[in-house]
Amino acid sequence: MKTIRTAQGLRDAVRGARERGSARVGLVPTMGALHEGHLSLVRAARRDCDLIVMSIFVNPKQFTEAVDLEGYPRQEAADAALAAAAGVDVLFAPEASELYPEGFATTVHVAGPVTETLEGAGRGPAHFDGVATVVSKLLLVSGADRAYFGQKDAQQLMVVRRMVADLGIRTDIVACTTVRDSDGLAMSSRNVRLNGEDRARATAIPRALEAVEAALALGETDVEALHARAGAVLAAAGITPEYVAFVDAHSFLPAHEIGEPVLCAIAARVGSVRLIDNTVLTLPEPSEER
Ligand code: AMP
Repeated sequence: MKTIRTAQGLRDAVRGARERGSARVGLVPTMGALHEGHLSLVRAARRDCDLIVMSIFVNPKQFTEAVDLEGYPRQEAADAALAAAAGVDVLFAPEASELYPEGFATTVHVAGPVTETLEGAGRGPAHFDGVATVVSKLLLVSGADRAYFGQKDAQQLMVVRRMVADLGIRTDIVACTTVRDSDGLAMSSRNVRLNGEDRARATAIPRALEAVEAALALGETDVEALHARAGAVLAAAGITPEYVAFVDAHSFLPAHEIGEPVLCAIAARVGSVRLIDNTVLTLPEPSEER
């Protein structure tokens, strides 16, 4: 695995690989502190690409809280070993001044409910502007044929899909399912900041999502009732969520009943750590009449 720190270096490496016959280039953008969730994206990329590029960049533009940015785990040497073992060919790990050199003046802004609700409302508009700006730059510099994103960040995935479609960027965006620990908690680089007790309490988040799925499977399609189920599970663990939201999975407009796929998304602080998780709800198949 080659580690590259400049945009020009990445362009050259990808061009060289293409000249040597790598037909398909896959990009896995990350902020590092790698875990199985990230590595599942690499495995998906390996299944259908010849050259795997992983970026590790703690993007200052998408952080809206200085303490979160400063406290974000950074472990490049360990990450490099994990990435190499998982089959990454090129690790792109630039400094902020490389991606945002002096004079950098462009912001990619995706408008509408997809950026203005949930995470956009909670973290402020700068968050998804930062995401869209850095992802568009990474896609353009790498020239990737495919880029892999986790469903764990469902809203980010939809922002990226919108941005790529609107700007005519030729990269296919591939969504990968959320990888969870054995206790159900969605893997996240932020989980290392949970103390033992909070780690246990945090499992109420996936359990709340499961409670919603179970109620839907039993025929409950009213969003208010489903909302109450999730709220009860969180409350029992002493968690006051920032939001439990039910939105149309494509438009991010509020959903009132389950019909078209609905994203049920939760954000909550457990201790000082802000966690997000989600599930996509679809109506259960009608059982066969006898
Ligand atoms: P991050 O490093 O947190 O910015 O995440 C980089 C990529 O990994 C994003 O596309 C995330 O959605 C994805 N990702 C993070 N956690 C998980 C997970 N538990 N399962 C699947 N993908 C994930």
